Amino acid sequence: MLKKLFQSFRSPLRRFPHPRRTPEILSSRQHSLHRDDLSRHAVSVVERLQQAGYEAYVVGGCVRDLLLDLDPKDYDVATSATPEQVRAEFRNARVIGRRFKLVHVHFGREIIEVATFRANHPEEDDDDASPMASRNESGRILRDNIYGTLEDDAQRRDFTINALYYDPSSERILDHTHGVKDIRNKLIRLIGDPEQRYQEDPVRMLRAIRFAAKLDFEIEQHSAEPIADLAELLNDVPAARLFDEIIKLFLSGKAERTFELLLEYELFAPLFPASAEALEDNPEYAGTLIRNALANTDERIAQGKPVTPAFLFAALLWPALPARIAEAQARGLPPIPAAQEAAHDIIWEQCQRTAIPKRFTMPMREIWDMQERLPRRQGRRADQLLENPRFRAGYDFLLLRESAGEETDGLGEWWTEYQEVNDSERRNMIRGLSKDDGSGAPRKRRRNNRRKRGPNESTPSSAD
Ligand code: ATP
Ligand code: MG
Repeated sequence: MLKKLFQSFRSPLRRFPHPRRTPEILSSRQHSLHRDDLSRHAVSVVERLQQAGYEAYVVGGCVRDLLLDLDPKDYDVATSATPEQVRAEFRNARVIGRRFKLVHVHFGREIIEVATFRANHPEEDDDDASPMASRNESGRILRDNIYGTLEDDAQRRDFTINALYYDPSSERILDHTHGVKDIRNKLIRLIGDPEQRYQEDPVRMLRAIRFAAKLDFEIEQHSAEPIADLAELLNDVPAARLFDEIIKLFLSGKAERTFELLLEYELFAPLFPASAEALEDNPEYAGTLIRNALANTDERIAQGKPVTPAFLFAALLWPALPARIAEAQARGLPPIPAAQEAAHDIIWEQCQRTAIPKRFTMPMREIWDMQERLPRRQGRRADQLLENPRFRAGYDFLLLRESAGEETDGLGEWWTEYQEVNDSERRNMIRGLSKDDGSGAPRKRRRNNRRKRGPNESTPSSAD
């Protein structure tokens, strides 16, 4: 067993020792976690690895959440076995790995993620000493596949509350970083030197915000202090990773609180530069629209309704459109091409920061385009719009704009009614338009009108 244990890792920390602390060990009587509360698959993975002679624990977010009486999203297992050794123990296991190698053990729809104990990084990059870890100039870790001991593994984790190890066999919790105390005091505290840990991986700043919002915890003072100064390090993070992180930030049911914290810690601007500018230029309108969108998202999640990143990004970026359209018009572009160009540019620029996949940018554009079409209801147009698969999102977006104070001449109410009434009443509503609504004027004039008015109707006019 010893041989198996040692062949599974090499300690890279000989050159950079840190004080070894023995973990605090909490027996089953000293904590509230019960073996039966865990996913039985997670327990079976741990036991199987232990029987094969490896060390294995349930670790991270699931231990934290269970101690807080929350339902864990998923279960992570940490072990002294290498990925290959883990795979050899299970029929239903696959080695995966982008940033580092992991094993996924599949049980129907549940996946237990098993990671080998890993070590923190030497402070200087030295190819001889750390052939599997490398950093860029700002200290960001680019690869980290250095295996380590349990103690190393605890030290390389982000926050003390995320570094608790639970052994379902003995029902003990191993706490190397006073994580249990921080859970009790509701504190998010980085392990190690905060500045250095943020430099290693700037996404930890976003994770601090995410857990603060999710758990309703405070960010401990020393962990909070460097964030605003280091916020721009987010510019170095690959855009695809930032997109993933933003989805977690805004689609976890605490988006509104998350937004306030991002603003407070000056992390919003590096993520959404155009929206941040709009918030500065027009704080009341942009702030209300974004906050209302996030509050709706939280409410939908609480009710178990589906939410789409397309709607969310459409809302976050909408307040940035008017200034861009005005700019394009000042360069001599007619209104429609100006609106099209502004929409395209804003999405393109945002994708440089947070790589929004095409399956979301397309519906974003459709939601925006729908804003221009919703006022045009004459003839069969209203019915055609109702048939449009994007109608509901477009209509919800219209209500969102109105909730932020945009003047639309009662358009949202009109559409609400139109959806509720029967066919003959719908005809009446359309006829009513021709009489008292300029947009319903005789065909020829209406066309002229459209050319003049269309694009302006598509822009958040009260935001100009
Ligand atoms: P949740 O799954 O509820 O969002 P979590 O804590 O499980 O929260 P994961 O992203 O699933 O978060 O990561 C699992 C664990 O891996 C964390 O608890 C933490 O110990 C460690 N970890 C994740 N990301 C980092 C990071 N950027 N730096 C250091 N450790 C990390
Ligand atoms: Mg997790």
